[in-house]
Amino acid sequence: MPHQPQSQPSFLIVGAGVYGASTALTLARLGYRSITVLDRSTDGFAAPDAASNDVNKIARSAYSAPLYRNLAKEALSQWRTDPTISRFYHEVGLVLHSGIAALNGDSASGITDDAEAYVRNGVENSVEKGGFAELPRPGQQLPRPAWPFHSDDEALDAFPPALRPHLGEGLKGFGKRQTGYIDPRGGWTEANAAVRAVLAEAIRLGVKVVPRCVAKELLYHDRPSSTGKRVVRGIRSADGKEYTADHTVIAAGAWSRLLLQQLLPGSSINALPPASPSAQCVVLLQLTPEERAVLKHAPVVLNFDTGLYVFEPTADGVLKMAIHSAAGYQNPAPRLDLETAYPTFQQGEERHCAQPSAIYKESADQFVPEDKVRTMLEELYTLYPLLRAVPAERIRTRICWYSDTLDENWVLDHHPDVDNLVVAGGDSGHGYKFLPTLGRLVAAKLGVEGVPELTPYQQRVFSFEHHRELAEKVKRGEKVESADSGRAPGGGAAAGKPVAERTMRMDKSATSKSNPRARL
Ligand SMILES: Cc1cc2nc3c(=O)[nH]c(=O)nc-3n(C[C@H](O)[C@H](O)[C@H](O)COP(=O)(O)OP(=O)(O)OC[C@H]3O[C@@H](n4cnc5c(N)ncnc54)[C@H](O)[C@@H]3O)c2cc1C
Repeated sequence: MPHQPQSQPSFLIVGAGVYGASTALTLARLGYRSITVLDRSTDGFAAPDAASNDVNKIARSAYSAPLYRNLAKEALSQWRTDPTISRFYHEVGLVLHSGIAALNGDSASGITDDAEAYVRNGVENSVEKGGFAELPRPGQQLPRPAWPFHSDDEALDAFPPALRPHLGEGLKGFGKRQTGYIDPRGGWTEANAAVRAVLAEAIRLGVKVVPRCVAKELLYHDRPSSTGKRVVRGIRSADGKEYTADHTVIAAGAWSRLLLQQLLPGSSINALPPASPSAQCVVLLQLTPEERAVLKHAPVVLNFDTGLYVFEPTADGVLKMAIHSAAGYQNPAPRLDLETAYPTFQQGEERHCAQPSAIYKESADQFVPEDKVRTMLEELYTLYPLLRAVPAERIRTRICWYSDTLDENWVLDHHPDVDNLVVAGGDSGHGYKFLPTLGRLVAAKLGVEGVPELTPYQQRVFSFEHHRELAEKVKRGEKVESADSGRAPGGGAAAGKPVAERTMRMDKSATSKSNPRARL
């Protein structure tokens, strides 16, 4: 039996993605008994179009920022040791490389100073640095820390023997036109399976989950607080039902911006929202058992320059790849209804909407721009040329939504305009791996008994105030530094544009060497 807290406040959480599910399980494990999770999905778990509901996600700790590096080491330790999720973590290692430009004939050497620095940093950060001491899997040693590739032979060792003869030019030229490393202390997680397992465990511990429940309005106590603010007492859903609690948490992922505008129409933060949705393109290849056998145990490969990343195929033979776009596609916004499975690009500006091709779409409503798919596949073939043999009918696409803040720091704060409302999100495309730790951070923000407070630095960078200051900076045309890779977030044409303007456009990000995209 978990320790019983002295007081038993109640909690209402909107959203069953990693932020919401992790919060629910953390509170339940702390012994809280009145916890309700609302989600618009048909089963109450992360919705089909939720960012957390995906085939797989990268788990790695080689962040340059100590804040995320230490949190990631804590998270990886739990991925290895927590029985609820450890079976969904595949520690196959992560190869980070760069230099594809040289392959395209853009330059004599594809290695940029940014890439060199990022590789050096990743290798150094793989070992303990006075932060969180990583735990191995029970009864095992921690894998060895990262090492850089100075030659193709060193890189070859990072790949399973069956795959070595099949590596393409994109994974060659180390020490000459490419730089890179392998960090064996990382890999990938079975994303949807793990977030479901976390919520299922929370349900087992007494958490109530309400499916098909769309949060629509805030409910308030009659009297304001001593500071004169309205005091939230819960949520009214779209079907008119009321859900009340002492604390309400909004963890609605890419929907949060829209939802907060709806819940608090007069709020000053709506003019400069801390986070905006951006759509990212994912391609899934269904491999045959023979193809899968060649790629089994392959490390995750992440290209620092292009943002392309590729996973080991799953047990079912699904190989996921994507290109992390700094700007993403910022229009349209994610949809609230679930009548159609995924959001569509069709509402975006005409010129950026390639016609859906018969081969890549699953329905008229679900496609990514075809030029994007072609680019992604061509880059994939530079790594693994054998995948050219996968025919179009075995290739699917999907859209996945980031909730981007300007500097990629999350939002974990009390809403400034009302009492008893915490917002948890602004994942900026790198929240999933923290599934085991996010709940503790949200619980700390909620001030629950037995959870250490956030550090002053965490309090600051996760605050509404911090994100408002960044938005003001962008409005003034000043550069905003990324929390991790040191680039101007939003990249390319979107950088330096007022936030409101950025969110109006469906922006295609260029792939340029000077624009590293190595978060995730
Ligand atoms: C293509 C892609 C690749 C990524 N790769 C990685 C990676 O490799 N590693 C990594 O660490 N991170 C990665 N991320 C980021 C990661 O997926 C996110 O940080 C994380 O999943 C966000 O979780 P969330 O809980 O904030 O949102 P979501 O998972 O989107 O969950 C939000 C939930 O809120 C619900 N909801 C919304 N509005 C309402 C409402 N009004 N009422 C009720 N319910 C509502 C939705 O139905 C949904 O289930 C990636 C993201 C994308 C898009």
